Amino acid sequence: MRIAVCPGSFDPVTNGHLDIFARASQLFDQIIVAVFHNPNKKPLFTMEERVEMLREATGHIPNVRVDCFSGLLNEYVRRQNSNIIVRGLRALSDFEYEFQRALLIKKIDPVIETVFMMTSSEYSFVSSSGIKELAKFGGSIRGLVPQCVEERILRRLHEA
Ligand code: ADP
Repeated sequence: MRIAVCPGSFDPVTNGHLDIFARASQLFDQIIVAVFHNPNKKPLFTMEERVEMLREATGHIPNVRVDCFSGLLNEYVRRQNSNIIVRGLRALSDFEYEFQRALLIKKIDPVIETVFMMTSSEYSFVSSSGIKELAKFGGSIRGLVPQCVEERILRRLHEA
């Protein structure tokens, strides 16, 4: 059984992320979408909220499971009986960061393979931070995030 882990902050999940999960789910037997607890970032949504939105948004893909973790990614991946990390790539700016990250993981744990999937062109400009900024200034985020996420962002910004 080929299990792959898609790690990320997913603050919040976008249609760009979903596109990667759906395509990866065709290549592997099981996909574990893992929300990473990063103490250096101040997220808009709590870990529980991000997991909840991901579960709702991926409910239609049978071989996707949503989980969360903190600590070293390679150790988490091994605990899932996997050695595969899937990351999405958008622009050149992603490459620099992802390249360093993949090599670092390879250095500390050579059995782990990082696999990159190219964004679909219709989502190449979609990022969680861009979505939050757009919504904050009153722009429409329809079609860029799942509907459950759209509602939650608007509610959260309204609260603030
Ligand atoms: P992180 O904080 O770990 O970078 P993100 O939640 O921002 O996590 O993204 C998780 C993964 O999804 C990363 O590999 C990122 O490059 C990828 N990704 C984000 N947006 C898109 C998109 N629109 N198309 C393809 N991949 C994407």
